Amino acid sequence: MFLRRLNQTRKTVGFRLTFWYFAILFFSALALFGLTYFFLSSSLQKQDRDSIQAKIDDFSSLYQTFGIEVLINEFDMERKYQKKIPFFIRFAGTQDETRFLILPYQWIGFDMKALEAVAFEKNDGWTRLPLIDGRYELEVKSVYLTGGYILQVGKSTEDRERILERFRTIFAFIIIPLMIFGLIGGFFVAYKALRPIRNLIYTVRAIATGKMDARVPGYRTGDELDELVILFNEMLTKIETLIQGMRDTLDHVAHDLRTPIARMRMVAEMALEANQKPDGLKRALSDCMEESDRILTMLNTLMDISEAETGAMKLDLEEVRISGLIRDVADLYGYVAEDKGIRLEMVSVADLRVTADPVRIRQVLGNLLDNAIKYTPPGGAVHIEATRDGEKIVILVKDTGVGINCEELPRIWDRLYRGDQSRSQKGLGLGLSLVKAIVQAHKGQIEVLSEPNKGSIFRIVLPSHL
Ligand code: ADP
Repeated sequence: MFLRRLNQTRKTVGFRLTFWYFAILFFSALALFGLTYFFLSSSLQKQDRDSIQAKIDDFSSLYQTFGIEVLINEFDMERKYQKKIPFFIRFAGTQDETRFLILPYQWIGFDMKALEAVAFEKNDGWTRLPLIDGRYELEVKSVYLTGGYILQVGKSTEDRERILERFRTIFAFIIIPLMIFGLIGGFFVAYKALRPIRNLIYTVRAIATGKMDARVPGYRTGDELDELVILFNEMLTKIETLIQGMRDTLDHVAHDLRTPIARMRMVAEMALEANQKPDGLKRALSDCMEESDRILTMLNTLMDISEAETGAMKLDLEEVRISGLIRDVADLYGYVAEDKGIRLEMVSVADLRVTADPVRIRQVLGNLLDNAIKYTPPGGAVHIEATRDGEKIVILVKDTGVGINCEELPRIWDRLYRGDQSRSQKGLGLGLSLVKAIVQAHKGQIEVLSEPNKGSIFRIVLPSHL
């Protein structure tokens, strides 16, 4: 159980981050110590050797200048004024027999034989010999003086070993808290760095259990993870809006289908129950056909909208003259407008061409004109015009109708949405959704400006070439 948990923990990013942070800190400290130790030890050794060499140089020049008596006198002086860590001095004759010796008391018992066997030519005359207590060594330089005499000056490594020992102790005292700090620091860094990821995991888990409104808390740090959190939240909001939109559409479709289907059922039921004459039955069948046509139109339009929105709508693109399209649609709706006592005006630059699917653009203009006439009371006017704006074609459909209030404005593009004022009019609430989807499929834009009781202006901008 414990082993399994440990194994799982080892696989976590948090553990790996902590481990690497700790390991890097530990090995950097170790490398730093190693280097410092090496330089300190070699500079201490050099210092010791320099002082031994200085003594040898002094003694040699005394011997060269004043002879052996003065040198022995100097040795005596050295013995008298010995320092805390004194020099070892041995002066031997041509047969390597000791003629003078200063053997500091710390080295009593030192095996003098070891010095006699020293090979001079090795290491420039430098030798290291173990002292009795085994902790320190005696570092000796041996030289020949003229006349075959042997001069040996040495020093114990005790002094520098103590310094190095103190250095090691200090390092041990530093490295232990440093490692504890490294572990805690590593854990803290990993914990902090992974906080957005943990939040992301909690949020995804919450969403999986059905909490669609769950969001990842952001810390506004401005780093990559913060950006990921912001994008993730934006994506969630978009998905939620889409799901909500789909739910609403489904609700509306179900609601809007219920009425015609219920009506069809009622008509059929009545036709079956009563002892109807053929005329009555015919009427019932034609009512049913009308209702099913309405349902079919609704379903076809819904399919068209989603095809246009997803890019699956097949557009038969060709270069068309806008003025021709406007005239076709205006001809079609001219009678309706005339019947309602509405003035229909159109203005278009003569040779305005656009690459588009003429059937679909006619559908767009037809829907907009239909709405404009539908929502304009008798005596009003509807105006349609097309102009060029650089590389773009602008089509305006204006009316002097009931207008749309601000609360309704953003919703008029939704599928199956019908304004409060439009209930008395015929319609499915799908016209503008289809218009927008077709315009966008042509890489254009559509917007509306409207003032209640004054009228509305629908503005389409299409690129002249796709
Ligand atoms: P509908 O079948 O209801 O006309 P649309 O999708 O064409 O459906 O329009 C959605 C809603 O936008 C309408 O119900 C109406 O409230 C509003 N609307 C559209 N065009 C106009 C207009 N020219 N004047 C006023 N209101 C409009």
